[in-house]
Amino acid sequence: MNVFFNSLHDEYAMLSFKIMFYTIVFLFGICIGSFLNVVIIRLPRHESLIKRSSHCMTCGTKIRPIDLIPVFSWLFLRGKCHNCGEKISVRYPIVESLNGIMYILTMYVLDFNPDSIITCVLMSLLIVVGFMDWDTMEIDMIIVAIIFLLAVPSQLLTDRCTISERIIGALVISVPFFVIGEVSRGIIKKKMGEDFRAIELGDTILMFAAGAYLGTKAIIVSALIGVITAAVVGVINKRVTGNSKFAFGPFLSIGIAFAALWGPKLADWYLGFLKVKN
Ligand SMILES: [Zn+2]
Repeated sequence: MNVFFNSLHDEYAMLSFKIMFYTIVFLFGICIGSFLNVVIIRLPRHESLIKRSSHCMTCGTKIRPIDLIPVFSWLFLRGKCHNCGEKISVRYPIVESLNGIMYILTMYVLDFNPDSIITCVLMSLLIVVGFMDWDTMEIDMIIVAIIFLLAVPSQLLTDRCTISERIIGALVISVPFFVIGEVSRGIIKKKMGEDFRAIELGDTILMFAAGAYLGTKAIIVSALIGVITAAVVGVINKRVTGNSKFAFGPFLSIGIAFAALWGPKLADWYLGFLKVKN
């Protein structure tokens, strides 16, 4: 009986430790998410990321420190500026909580180690890439360069993949993307006289950088997820708005995030599945 109580006690201790750990991870995540909001808005406008303090987009009032608490302040203010009562975009708490959730998910799937910590950085960068591309139809090359550089600590501190897998990973999607982009550009120019690519250079370079981080299998998985989700949303978007042009980056970002967590496992499962079928 004593043994039972002991194990029960340990289980409770473990559980309360886990709850505490994930709460801290989430709170840390939403604080970083708050900074990501600043990056998403200011980077395309070439504004300083640190100089000017946050202010209301409508009345320009400086936001009180008490109203700067991620997610909670927005909820407490019911999404309105305390000074002018103008709506504060729901995007802010969405980006903040999304970052918190991605941190929890990363720690849950990969455990607490160098790989999960570096992958959390990747998640934040992907959120910036996705939302910025959604807003501006442009992928920021500074952010993509940082994603590429993450391959260095990942190679030195984790056993995510080998150097040759990283090199092949960088090329296996980006090269076909580049070719498709060039070919489509030629066809579109001939047919419609517009300078436009089916896959933009920014998307291609993003897949080059992410491929160096993820390796061969996972970058293929992320491209598949990106293409499929973009196709589905593209069809819906065309039905609803009649517009066929939209940003590819957010969907590639979703694919990369997914593959960073489950990519190799999913690829192995799929290959195993094919073998069983044959
Ligand atoms: Zn205001």
